[in-house]
Amino acid sequence: DIDRIANVIRTQDILRRHDFNFKKKFGQNFLTDHNILTKITQTAELDKTTNVIEIGPGIGSLTQYLLEEAAEVMAFEIDKTLIPILDETLTNYDNFQLVNADVLKVDLNQYIAKFAHPEYPIKVVANLPYYITTPILMHLIESKIPFTEFVVMMQKEVADRIAARPNSKAYGSLSIAVQYYLEAEVAFTVPRTVFVPAPNVDSAILKMTRRDKPLVDVQDEDWFFKVMHATFVHRRKTLMNNLQAAFGKENKAVMEIQLAQAKISPSIRAEALTIAEFGKLSDALISFKD
Ligand code: SAM
Repeated sequence: DIDRIANVIRTQDILRRHDFNFKKKFGQNFLTDHNILTKITQTAELDKTTNVIEIGPGIGSLTQYLLEEAAEVMAFEIDKTLIPILDETLTNYDNFQLVNADVLKVDLNQYIAKFAHPEYPIKVVANLPYYITTPILMHLIESKIPFTEFVVMMQKEVADRIAARPNSKAYGSLSIAVQYYLEAEVAFTVPRTVFVPAPNVDSAILKMTRRDKPLVDVQDEDWFFKVMHATFVHRRKTLMNNLQAAFGKENKAVMEIQLAQAKISPSIRAEALTIAEFGKLSDALISFKD
């Protein structure tokens, strides 16, 4: 049987022996619950022909489960005081690569070439530092690496926003930025009590699966995102109010015609539009690009 890192007694023993102090600025909350870790690993559906990228291994609680199930795990950890601890806790695994770096500052494409089998599909599985969840997700998506799946723990409120559907309070530019590329669903929620120390927010595991191609086919991707962001600037205002603020009051009449052609009402709010409708909207307004 495996000597699990993830239980309260072993975790406290490791931390005490290494004289480790939690750093709030790095969002350090370590998992100590076998059931939650098993559920995360099952949700990720790993096998010995799948590579894993982990962000923030901490003392290796989740990493150990990933190493058991996956071909290889490459982990990025910013805190240098955790490196000797991980060297000790994961010493028995030869399928582990540890990088002491801020994940936001590394060129991920360079690193994934270092997998023994770079041709295997790559999944991201992590208990993310909550203070930079969104920048990390955007960095991973913008790397253009074809990660097949993300199974990531984050603040529940952020997970709800990413997975939100139209006509809900949580639906907005973050939902669309992610769902354009990935299918997103909240897999399960996680109580504060399974962490050391306990965070002061509730958490959730979000599962995101890459689409074969983006959800909508648009004439210009940058323009699509620009129009979409512009319509959410003032959430409570109508679509036309936001469009006028972004592209000029003097263009109201022209934009009304363009919206009518796209069969979109100027008096609704952005939160009522599906992602497909945002695609139609940005295509209809393409004459205002630059
Ligand atoms: N995976 C461990 C677990 O589940 O117990 C620790 C998770 S803890 C919520 C977040 C981890 O991310 C910490 O180990 C922290 O030091 C690390 N971290 C914070 N900011 C980071 C960054 N910019 N790049 C890489 N790791 C970071």
